[in-house]
Amino acid sequence: MKISFEGKRVLVTGAGQGIGRGIAIELWKAGAKVVAVSRTQSHLDSLHAQYPSIDVVALDVGDYDKTRQVIDDLGHFDALVNNAAIANCQPFLECSPDVFDRMVNINVKSVINISQVVARKMIEKKIAGAIVNVSSQASKKALKNHTIYGATKAALDSVTRTMALELGPYGIRVNAVNPTVIMTEMGKTEWSDPIKANAMLSRIPLDRFGEVSEVSDAVLYLLSDKASMINGVELPIDGGFLAA
Ligand code: NDP
Repeated sequence: MKISFEGKRVLVTGAGQGIGRGIAIELWKAGAKVVAVSRTQSHLDSLHAQYPSIDVVALDVGDYDKTRQVIDDLGHFDALVNNAAIANCQPFLECSPDVFDRMVNINVKSVINISQVVARKMIEKKIAGAIVNVSSQASKKALKNHTIYGATKAALDSVTRTMALELGPYGIRVNAVNPTVIMTEMGKTEWSDPIKANAMLSRIPLDRFGEVSEVSDAVLYLLSDKASMINGVELPIDGGFLAA
């Protein structure tokens, strides 16, 4: 199956490192004009040095008003990947209001903010666009220390369904992917401890964690015309974790 994004402009958030960087590179390889938004300038500099035709924009998507302005100034997009997120895992009894506010702000509020700006332009320009939200298996199953993170991803799944419902009539498709553990910087922070990792692996039928490329493959498919009737799904990329 050949997927091409030739002539398409695609915005990827959190593209400085990890899964977002992988998605941005694969979209570029498939011919997309990619705009990579992320927080840390040095990560973006290294992406731009490796792929000079990927445009990079340093932005804290947690800053609501600035984000709205910056994304608006970037013009129209044919596709959007809402990937930027933070994971600050705490035991339930220690969950703090400031961590809750920070995680909801970046993992959920910023997705609504950015998607509104991008979707309005798609509608204005009559673009049958596609949006993928990067959620998590943690949205659907209880994981120790994941109270707030899981809640933000469950909210993101819900936002995905409502966006699919309300943007579908404009020809805009909105889907989510729900990966298992991927050993990015975020993954390493939570899952480097072999005791925790083995406990998680024992619940994954394929008995391994995922790769960045396995997430980017699914994202590119959902963004592409090959998924033209797929709208509002939450696709596990989890080796069977949620099924087991
Ligand atoms: P990383 O922490 O490795 O990368 C996250 C990226 O998001 C970084 O480039 C980071 O910027 C960017 N980012 C974070 N906060 C902001 C912000 N306020 N403004 C702009 N950019 C921001 O995480 P992953 O690549 O692992 O995660 C990517 C997505 O996948 C997330 O949505 C995550 O929840 C999800 N996911 C990850 C899993 C895993 O095990 N890794 C499992 C399931 C889902 P920078 O570092 O440049 O500052």
